[in-house]
Amino acid sequence: MQLQEKLASLKVWLAKQPKAFQQGMGALLVAVLVFGVVFAARANGACAVAVDGQVVAVVKNKAVAEAVVNSLVKEHQEKAANVKPLQKITYKTTDAKTDLVSEEELKQLLAQRLTFEATAAGIQVNGSLKAAVKDKATAEKVLEKLKQSYQVGPDYKVDFQEKVAVVDVPVQADKVLSPEAALKRLKGESDTPRYYTVKEGDTLWDIAMACKVSPDDLLANNPGFEPEKMQIGQKIKMVGVPEPIINVVAVAEKTVKEEIVLAQQVRKNPKLPFGKTKVIQKGETGLKEVTYQIIAVNGLETERKILSEKVLKEAKPQIIERSAQTMVASRGFRPGGAILSPFGMRNGRMHTGVDLARPYGSPVGAYNAGRVIRAGWYGGYGKCVDISHGNGIVTRYAHLSSINVSVGQTVERGQNIGRVGSTGRSSGPHLHFEVIVNGVPRNPIGYI
Ligand SMILES: [Zn+2]
Repeated sequence: MQLQEKLASLKVWLAKQPKAFQQGMGALLVAVLVFGVVFAARANGACAVAVDGQVVAVVKNKAVAEAVVNSLVKEHQEKAANVKPLQKITYKTTDAKTDLVSEEELKQLLAQRLTFEATAAGIQVNGSLKAAVKDKATAEKVLEKLKQSYQVGPDYKVDFQEKVAVVDVPVQADKVLSPEAALKRLKGESDTPRYYTVKEGDTLWDIAMACKVSPDDLLANNPGFEPEKMQIGQKIKMVGVPEPIINVVAVAEKTVKEEIVLAQQVRKNPKLPFGKTKVIQKGETGLKEVTYQIIAVNGLETERKILSEKVLKEAKPQIIERSAQTMVASRGFRPGGAILSPFGMRNGRMHTGVDLARPYGSPVGAYNAGRVIRAGWYGGYGKCVDISHGNGIVTRYAHLSSINVSVGQTVERGQNIGRVGSTGRSSGPHLHFEVIVNGVPRNPIGYI
C-alpha cells in the first residue's frame, strides 16, 4: 500500500471515531511527524548558525542556513548595492540534542541580530549627509521632484539655496530611504500628524498661534471644523511649519500691467456751506507696465523688485473741496481699494479676509489706533502686520513688501505701517485685509 492510500484509509477510519478521539489522534500524528523530521535531521548532522561566535539557532543543514542568509541579503539589495552583514556568520555541524528551528524562525532570529551595510547614494546638504537613497539616479530624481514641487510658474528658474551634492556613501541598509520618504525628509515634513486638544477659552486664533499656522491653513486642514461650535477636548489636526533641509529658490522676471490709482486730494473751502463737498477734478485711473524680478522660496514669494516701470496712461487724482467744518469721521481708517477677492469660501478654502487692489509699494494705513502684535514673516501671509484694537478686535495686513512698525508699538489711526506687496502665498500685488473678532475672522466688508 502506498503512503497516500494508507493516510486516506486512516482518515476514513478516524472520521468514524468520536470527536475528542479524532482531535487527540490528530495531535499525536503531528507529534510523530515532527519527531520523525527532527530525528532524521539530527541523523544527517544539523547546522548551528552563529553570529559573532554566538550560536543563534540550529537548522537542518548548512544549505538551509545559507539560503536564509542569502534571502536576507537579497531583500536589502532591493534598496541598496553591495549589501553585506556587518557581523560574522559561521556555520558548524553539530550533533548536540537541541530543537531545530524552521527557515522562517531562523530568518526572524537573524534579522534581529544582523545589521547590513550597503553602498547608497547620499544626499549631502552643505557638506553633511541628510538622506540616503538606492542609487545616484534615484537621488537625482528625488532632487528634481523637489525642484518641481516649488516650480511656481513656467518662467521661473529654480535652484537650491544650499549646496547640494550626491555622493556614494556606506550606510546601514535599513537607513536607506524610499524616494517618497527622502523627498518628505528634504522638505522637512513630518510623517505623523499631531493633534491639538481644545482647552477652555480657546479661540481659533489661539489654536492657530499654538499650531504655528494661519487660521486659514488650520481650517483648510480640518474640513468640517466649525470654530463657532468648538468643544473643549476636541482634537484639531496640527500641520506644523515644515523645517526644510533644502530650500528651493525660484526666480522670474514678470511684466504686468497695473492700474495707477492716486489718493484723493481734499481742500478746504470756507465758502462752502457746512457739510458740503464739491468735486474739482474727477479722478482717473492710470495704467503702467511694470517689470518685476520675483523671488519665491519654497513656493512662497519673498521678494519682488521693480526692474523697470513705464507709464502707459497718466492717472489724475480726484480733487474735492470740503467746507471748513465737517463732521469728524468716527469710523476706522478705510484701507480702500477695489475688492479682488471677497471673504468666504474660495476654491474649497476659506478666504479669511478680503483682497484689495492696491498698486505695489503703496502705503498701508492702520485701520484704527492700536498696538502692533505681529510684524514680520508669517507663512503664506508673507510679510504681515497684526494690530490689536482692544475688545478682542485684531486687524491683519498681509503680503506686504515692507513693514514700518515693530511688535509692541502703538499706532494711530491711519498711520503708515508698511507697503503693499506680494510676499507669501500671493499671485500679485494686493493688500489682504482681515478683521479678526475674538479669534474668528469676520467679513471685513463693513470695515473697508
Ligand atoms: Zn487674501
